[in-house]
Amino acid sequence: MPPISISDLYARYRQCRAVSTDTRQAQDQTLFVALNGPSFRGADFAPQALAKGARFAVVDDEALAATDPARYCYAPDTLAALQQLALHHRQQLRIPVLAVTGSNGKTTTKELLNAVLSRRFRVQYTRGNLNNHIGVPLTLLSIRPEEHELAVVEMGANHQGEIDSYCQYARPTHGLITNIGKAHLEGFGGIEGVARGKTELFRFLTATGGTVFVNTADARLAAAGQLLPQRVTYPGPQDTYPAELLSAAPRVRLRLFDGTPVEAAITGAYNFVNLAAAAAVGAHFGVPTADIAEALAAYDPQNNRSQLVRTAHNEVVLDAYNANPSSMAAALASFTARPGEAGRKAVVLGDMFELGEESTAEHHALGDLLLRQGYGTVLLVGQEMQRAQRPGFHHFHTKAQAAAWLREHPLQERLVLVKGSRGMGLETLMELL
Ligand code: ATP
Ligand code: MG
Repeated sequence: MPPISISDLYARYRQCRAVSTDTRQAQDQTLFVALNGPSFRGADFAPQALAKGARFAVVDDEALAATDPARYCYAPDTLAALQQLALHHRQQLRIPVLAVTGSNGKTTTKELLNAVLSRRFRVQYTRGNLNNHIGVPLTLLSIRPEEHELAVVEMGANHQGEIDSYCQYARPTHGLITNIGKAHLEGFGGIEGVARGKTELFRFLTATGGTVFVNTADARLAAAGQLLPQRVTYPGPQDTYPAELLSAAPRVRLRLFDGTPVEAAITGAYNFVNLAAAAAVGAHFGVPTADIAEALAAYDPQNNRSQLVRTAHNEVVLDAYNANPSSMAAALASFTARPGEAGRKAVVLGDMFELGEESTAEHHALGDLLLRQGYGTVLLVGQEMQRAQRPGFHHFHTKAQAAAWLREHPLQERLVLVKGSRGMGLETLMELL
């Protein structure tokens, strides 16, 4: 049985409501793409997906496909087929596609962009954090030509060449890099490697005549963006769309390029640039400033990112969604700047993952940074955090040990910051705070 051609696959996709790669979502009238996982064969799930109502299933099992050619599509590499399908679909679309990458703040910025751009356009945007080699094509395939006027696509990466590979099928017309930070140092090879990897987006757009949005507050981005022909800059006073941070706590207050003040619902000084980015893009696409300001003020995330939570006993800055050295430093700077004595502040911090050979030094440096802040209570959780342990701090190898300590020494009437890598799942300690 020959592999299905992309045009035949596209014709089948057009008869479906959506694409899914997970049998739990393979509902009625979907195109199910059976991807292989580290410990499973996607094709094994395909009959189940069809039984649940999927219209077609793309499988790499030729014999299985031959059992029902009307519903199975044979592709020797189903992931490649998904990406080629995304490219084919993208080529039919005549809308701006804005790619968002960067080390930190991609999802926050993407959500802010959606809030702002939706005031004027029907926007499709990355749902949740579907920002990888599967999520990006799925996002593209969720764009409906008859409905959407603009798309915002989050792109995550942890090694060189990855952003460029997304660009090859997403064909963005616009791009924004939130910042260059110390995230995924292992895969990129240090911070200069991160800069080279993320700016693949700028290089793609320059080569294709697209527009880049340049955050000049980030020195590496300012340098990379300096000579690009179609650039829109923010948030510096000399930039296309300046913005001014008025205060960072308890919430971010800023002034937009035309003087309009905004009081955002989100917290954390680092969110200033994310807000300024969304304002710059909105203005570039012609969203009226009053609408931009309203959208930014109304955006209130419920996703463990920079959430201010009032519990029965404490006020908690819940930032347990993720952590790396840059976002940790930004979160601590913002926490220290909050009103209240340092002695009343408490931090609960978990390991920062994916730092490779820089992990020991980065966790050690975090210990020194924490000493300088003078917080009343410092709880450190995880193997790597041993390096940050200093006199007066409490280190726990496991979350269970930290939980036991918190049960014996409950924190009361304190301002608490909770932050760690996703795998640490520190939000589960909330019930003890
Ligand atoms: P991921 O790589 O997991 O997709 P992301 O880049 O989408 O992450 P967000 O989910 O928006 O990032 O934010 C994660 C955390 O990063 C936030 O909770 C905050 O601590 C931190 N952060 C957000 N924006 C910035 C920024 N501009 N600079 C530094 N840290 C930031
Ligand atoms: Mg994200």
